[in-house]
Amino acid sequence: ARLGGGFGVDRVPGLGHSGSGSTLLGYIGIDTIIEQMRKKTMKAGFDFNIMIVGHSGLGKSTLVNTLFKSQVSRWSSGWGGEHKIPKTVEIKAVSHVIEEGGVKMKLTVIDTPGFGDQINNENCWDPISKYINEQYEKFLKEEVNIARKKRIPDTRVHCCLYFISPTGHSLRQLDIEFMKHLSRVVNIIPVIAKSDTMTPDEKNEFKHRVRKELETHGIEYYPQNEFDDDMEDKNENDKIREAMPFAVVGSDKEFQVNGKRVLGRKTAWGVVEVENPNHCEFALLRDFLIRSHLQDLKEVTHNIHYETYRARRLNDNGGLHPISANNTQESNL
Ligand code: GDP
Ligand code: MG
Repeated sequence: ARLGGGFGVDRVPGLGHSGSGSTLLGYIGIDTIIEQMRKKTMKAGFDFNIMIVGHSGLGKSTLVNTLFKSQVSRWSSGWGGEHKIPKTVEIKAVSHVIEEGGVKMKLTVIDTPGFGDQINNENCWDPISKYINEQYEKFLKEEVNIARKKRIPDTRVHCCLYFISPTGHSLRQLDIEFMKHLSRVVNIIPVIAKSDTMTPDEKNEFKHRVRKELETHGIEYYPQNEFDDDMEDKNENDKIREAMPFAVVGSDKEFQVNGKRVLGRKTAWGVVEVENPNHCEFALLRDFLIRSHLQDLKEVTHNIHYETYRARRLNDNGGLHPISANNTQESNL
């Protein structure tokens, strides 16, 4: 969302604010900045870190593998069968470099096995919140380092996909507690897991109810109202917010439909096609998360969540240098 202020363009001589450019002076070449930025981004690549949270068996690993069309989450059921459910919440980060059209993305999937699986789930968001803050701290340490790296490795969580169980009833206490505690520190995108297990009517009613409950509890998920940049942004995001939480389906199995191979799941009603918008909202989520809002997720993480952490840390230190000298050596990530 927010970036720095404008340049006061209409005071630059030769640039009328009509936007038609000046025929008097001819072409300057300002617009080539886009191509210059493109080249730099291509060369540098970028980091994207996505966290998945929800109790075991909700299809988290399958969904991220479906999103990125590869085995980016090795905890998927396809990998060596059953996993033991850990006794406490564990945090497992796995990174992959994915390349498409010459652009390299270093994708890190942060899995949280054990979340919500205990008899007593009190405070089970603690390790998750601790992990998120540790990444902010790492980044901060790099930033204030005297010998600052040209490019600080970014391990901050840009997006947390929160999986809601397709019960058809309501949110669980744990869902509410988790989102309440974490929506101020990270971008949360709630999704309804395994939505092929509900009929279209059940699904719509459930979505409606979940949205209401989130509102009642004052839970702000991404894209947050308050960070809309302008009317255009607001209109676009309003549409997305009205359609959330997306009811998704993930799969690693292909089916033949009308002579085409598609990812899907066989159900009593036939094959539910993952990418067919008439069947589920996987494609909506994918388009939103990757094709329209990936850069914004990174910007909100940096400009809002990280900034809040940073301001608090620097304040706690009386506005002084936040790290003591003997800490600086360990910032070599
Ligand atoms: P995780 O524990 O949340 O990571 O769940 P997994 O991705 O390992 O999936 C658990 C089981 O649910 C596997 O048998 C998957 O095949 C199945 N599964 C995954 N996604 C879906 C889905 O969208 N719908 C249905 N019906 N089953 C799914
Ligand atoms: Mg898993």
